[in-house]
Amino acid sequence: MTQQQIDPASNGLELITEVPERAMVVFAHPDDAEIGAGATAAKWAKLGCVVTYVQCTTGSSGSNDRSMTSEAIVPIRAAEQRAAADTIGVRDIEVLDHPDGWLDPDRVFLEELVRVIRKHRPDVVFAHDPERYSGFNHRDHRAVGITTKDAIYPYARDHLHFPHQVDKEGLEPWKVKHLLMWGTDQPNVIVDVTDSLETKIEALFKHKSQVGGLATNTDVATRLRTRATESAEGFDFKFAERFRRITARQ
Ligand SMILES: [Zn+2]
Repeated sequence: MTQQQIDPASNGLELITEVPERAMVVFAHPDDAEIGAGATAAKWAKLGCVVTYVQCTTGSSGSNDRSMTSEAIVPIRAAEQRAAADTIGVRDIEVLDHPDGWLDPDRVFLEELVRVIRKHRPDVVFAHDPERYSGFNHRDHRAVGITTKDAIYPYARDHLHFPHQVDKEGLEPWKVKHLLMWGTDQPNVIVDVTDSLETKIEALFKHKSQVGGLATNTDVATRLRTRATESAEGFDFKFAERFRRITARQ
């Protein structure tokens, strides 16, 4: 199967201009949030949206350095993620502390995501697209995508799911309006990130252990600019991020 060619002019990609009050980015590993939705998150944060990060694993397997251990890489990646979040304009990071590579779309993980959604009450949630078929899709990414989708509908919304959160933890059910998924084969919305792409790149370079420790890694920056330019094709702005959006019935 060849990858579907998207022609924005004919394919009806909808331009998102509305900025929500609160947004949440749910991601598997430190740096996924910046790669997936960093420019949109930075743009919205600057315009007053409260953006919360939910980091589902510690990133304990994320190193190509054979002398690196999981114990050593975890605090490094935590500090890098904090610095990247600061650059994007994100205050709160919820870390769910699963080991890297061990995420399952099970009830434990589901309950954790329902809790953070009920706690932070985002209008829009970003996550990995679990249904990408055009290449390898990390098991943790699939687990985050599936479980986030389930957590939004129906679990966070309905009070009889995880009722102890409502009865004992003081949380209320919450309806997320939109789920926006990155890394998708089938984008249906687009965001103009011309003014925030450089912030995304700057944030990504905070993940020094992942981008080779080079603060001026021009290859990575060039690749990101090229991809963002391609994403904006057919529109009258320079850089874009694309997502697959699904909207909950109200
Ligand atoms: Zn990842």
